[in-house]
Amino acid sequence: MSPPADDRLLPRPTEDSRPFWDALRSHRLDLQTCADCGAVRHYPRPVCPACHSMAVAWTTASGRGAVHSWTVSHQAFHPAFEDRLPIVLATVDLEEGVRMNCRLDGVAPEEIDIGLPVEVAFEDVGEGMTLPCFRPRGVRRGGS
Ligand SMILES: [Zn+2]
Repeated sequence: MSPPADDRLLPRPTEDSRPFWDALRSHRLDLQTCADCGAVRHYPRPVCPACHSMAVAWTTASGRGAVHSWTVSHQAFHPAFEDRLPIVLATVDLEEGVRMNCRLDGVAPEEIDIGLPVEVAFEDVGEGMTLPCFRPRGVRRGGS
């Protein structure tokens, strides 16, 4: 488990997003799905953008995707991130057809490319909170 993060920096689950965060705590990536038309959506929100239904279901994602884009931050804008620089923030196209913004770990910034196959990993940060990150597919490192 990583050192406790500054709790002011942790996500605050909402009524719509709580199942997403609860699944992460169990090391699952669950995506909100329309219970009427089946459209998968991310981030969690109350209304289906495809059919405007408010009926919600949750499905467990494969956790696999590919890098759509990324940026490398060499500047810590909060002291809690100083020991993690550089931080790579990526937009990942998930196999389920939605995009997710997330930290990308386990790869040097100069080795990242569009389409890099990645898979979700889970970082338990304490306070009952688990954060997702992505790593190059097939790479296993300690921790989570
Ligand atoms: Zn729908």
